[in-house]
Formats: sequence, structure tokens, C-alpha cells
Amino acid sequence: MYETERKELVEILRSKGISNQRVLDAFLKVERHLFVPDIMKQHAYKDVALPIGLGQTISQPYTVAYMTQEIDPQPKQKILEIGTGSGYQAAILYELGGRVFSIERHNDLYNSAMKMFDKLNLKIAARCSDGTIGWDEFSPYDGIIVTAGGPTVPINLKKQLSVGGRLVIPVGDKQVQTLQIITKISEDEFQTNEVPYFAFVPLIGKEGWKEK
Ligand code: SAH
Repeated sequence: MYETERKELVEILRSKGISNQRVLDAFLKVERHLFVPDIMKQHAYKDVALPIGLGQTISQPYTVAYMTQEIDPQPKQKILEIGTGSGYQAAILYELGGRVFSIERHNDLYNSAMKMFDKLNLKIAARCSDGTIGWDEFSPYDGIIVTAGGPTVPINLKKQLSVGGRLVIPVGDKQVQTLQIITKISEDEFQTNEVPYFAFVPLIGKEGWKEK
């Protein structure tokens, strides 16, 4: 279903500068309409963020593609995602052959994402907890993607990155963030590139915003 719409979405992503063919192929394959609420399905292949309940959103496809392209996951690499939400970003990472670990703080979102992973037979490891402290057990990760915006870069996420690995995280205030692309050069050296003007829902936790 929606094959034509998926092809059109991929052309939009390409026209906006996403050039990694493996990433584009993953967008052709993963069915975004399965990750949005029923009443949103007709909008699933528009390049916009959509509400998924509890005040959260499934990120805009362009943003998912951009972050994925920056991580460029290779088969068997370990990738950690903070903010499972609908599970769509995790499914894209899985489609690229990554061993995907994902953390969501909202129990209801965690449960429905797990159900969808099961249904689609995606072997994604997920847990419900505060992602700002990372997931030490399976570290180090070749890539870490944070899909919610925080005030600072959580120290544990930098620690849990492998040397040569990349962390992509929106940092800023609650309205607008800069996407920080952080490469770990050695155990205590990092190189950071910044891309302005992204808007994510808040990263809430020990090393994020405090819940009101
Ligand atoms: N990657 C998701 C985007 C969901 S929006 C997708 O593809 O649909 C970001 C998600 O981050 C929300 O579901 C929110 O509940 C979650 N979140 C915010 N702070 C978090 C934290 N500290 N740990 C884990 N998840 C968090």
C-alpha cells in the first residue's frame, strides 16, 4: 500500500539534498503509515511531523533522513536511539542493517512501538527509561541518534560512543535547536559540527529538561 506516495516522498527527500541511496532505499521500504495513528494515515507520506499522542510527534521524514545520513549506519553496527516514539526512526535504522537499541520514556509509546516491531518482525531492542543516561550494557555504540531536543549534550551519551562513532543530537531551547553532529576522535576528544534551525519535542530527563 501507498507505494506511489512513498516514491514521491523519496523524490522530495532527494530534492532537499538527501543523496545517500541506501538511506533513500530504506525510505522506499519502511511503511510510515503503519507508525502513525489511523486518522493521520492520509498524511503519512507528506514531509511533515505528525502527532502520535501524549504531546509527542513522529519526526518529519526529512529530519529522520538527515540524521540517518549523518550516522550512515553500516550492517551490524550498533546504533542507539533516544526517543523511540512511534518506532519509525528505529525501523529505518534497522532496515539499514543496524543492530538497533532504542529508549522511550513514555510507557504507552514504548508499548505500542514494541507491538509494531513484533508485528513487522523487526529485531529491535527497546526499553522504557530515561535515555539521557544512555544504555550502558550494550555500549559502545557506533552511532547515537537523539530524537528530542535538550539543553546540553548528556555526558553519558558521549561516554557510550565508540571511538570513530557519531552522536547526532538537537541542542538549544525548547522552541528551536541546532543539530550537533559530534564525532568521537579519541576517548576524550570530540569534533562537533552544527546545523541550525531544527525543531524537536523536548528531551526530558536527568540530563535534559525537567518535567513540569
Ligand atoms: N524517533 C521518534 C520521534 C519521537 S519524538 C519517531 O520516529 O517517531 C521524541 C520522543 O522522545 C518522544 O516520544 C518522547 O517521549 C521521547 N523522549 C523525550 N525525552 C526522553 C528521554 N529522556 N528518554 C527517552 N525518550 C525520551
